[in-house]
Amino acid sequence: MSSYSDGIFNDIKELRKLVQKDIQSNWYHSLENISVNSDSFNPNEAKFKLDTWHLATVNEKGYITWDKGRQVKWLAQKITIPYALQDYPLSGLTLRLVLTWWAEDAKIFVNGKLTQQGDLFDSSARILLTNSAIPGEEFWVAIRLVSPGHDIGALMRSKCVYEKLVGAVREPPLQKNLIGNQIDPGFFADEIEILAKYLTKFEAEKLQILVTNINEIDWSKVANAQEFDRALANFRQQLLPLAKHIKQRCFYPLGHAHLDLAWLWTTAETYQVAQRTFESVLNLQQDFPYLTFGHTTPALYEWIEQNRPDLFIQIKEAVRQGKWEILGGMWVEPEVNLVSGESIARQLLYGQHYFKEKFGKITRVAWLPDSFGFSWQLPQLFKQAGIDYFVTGKLHWNDTNKFPLGCFWWESPDGTRMLTLMSPPNVTGVMDTNPITMTDYAVDWESQTG
Ligand SMILES: [Zn+2]
Repeated sequence: MSSYSDGIFNDIKELRKLVQKDIQSNWYHSLENISVNSDSFNPNEAKFKLDTWHLATVNEKGYITWDKGRQVKWLAQKITIPYALQDYPLSGLTLRLVLTWWAEDAKIFVNGKLTQQGDLFDSSARILLTNSAIPGEEFWVAIRLVSPGHDIGALMRSKCVYEKLVGAVREPPLQKNLIGNQIDPGFFADEIEILAKYLTKFEAEKLQILVTNINEIDWSKVANAQEFDRALANFRQQLLPLAKHIKQRCFYPLGHAHLDLAWLWTTAETYQVAQRTFESVLNLQQDFPYLTFGHTTPALYEWIEQNRPDLFIQIKEAVRQGKWEILGGMWVEPEVNLVSGESIARQLLYGQHYFKEKFGKITRVAWLPDSFGFSWQLPQLFKQAGIDYFVTGKLHWNDTNKFPLGCFWWESPDGTRMLTLMSPPNVTGVMDTNPITMTDYAVDWESQTG
């Protein structure tokens, strides 16, 4: 990376520091074992008195970790809104607590009240602490996390994020909402970072314009938020022409739920999860008619058909309307490295047969997001089952060799070729829809595929 962009990324960091505060090293934990059953937090109770607790250690990755095996970890801290961050006044801004964890169960309490819950895959939160920050205002925040049975638990990230124009800034078109001096420094930092990443990769000659502009930021004006924001808004206006390249690009997300039939849970639990997942997708499609969802695994559809015929009818209707895509073509998402060819052939035979019989069509897309390794003969077997495309993201999991291609022809020994697509990486156990992570992927994708 050029020294130009190094400077830009430093300034972006400075901009974020005006409205974001890392609070990861401020958590206290109790060394005494608080009863596993205790699942409410009251700062007035003796066992929750923080002066008897200890500051939790943050490891070199920035994580707070504890033992595996469903161990409970309580973390708590008092958050006091300062007058300013790096001199930038915070009064009147929205304050959110942003958390990411790796825990089988998560409960977050604000001032003793249970505010949010999560689990291993619902593993991040942006919790609203106040709509209008008042310097000096205090919040007691406590988190009860349970480590997974198979792995250590972790609080991976925690920060306070102050935001402006909540609601408005997220709605398109952005420019309309950013007229005058209405600008959110954190959101703007994201915009510049995305711009810098695109320019660095595809239009390096234009980086100088960004550098010249960013050098003009007068950091001595920070304490006067109005004046500083006005300067940022002008700066943003001058950068808009540079974003032309990005605006020609578009993301088309496809909703997908990857459900292991049995891993750290039983199939009985998977059936419950499948019902909840499918119901919430159908509900979301009521609110967001453009939401398209894709799902594999005839074994699950068959269970739904037999046990929840009402739900099955709704799924069939969504498939008919093109809002729900049947994927995979195999009975489950199987292991495909060690099993025999006959086993894979039967997966495809039974899977496609079920799709044809129940939905009136077979799928043309083989979809294996989580199988460890792929036999060389798969394109040949897929093709004979009426499949034309293969999708996986598993090759991103290699921590040593970065797989260089996003879209490629995969050829079997017999010469059968299949167009193969790498889905986006699964970041730290969850699909990360952070715009910066998505940009990294989009830039990678574009440089791989042109
Ligand atoms: Zn899986």
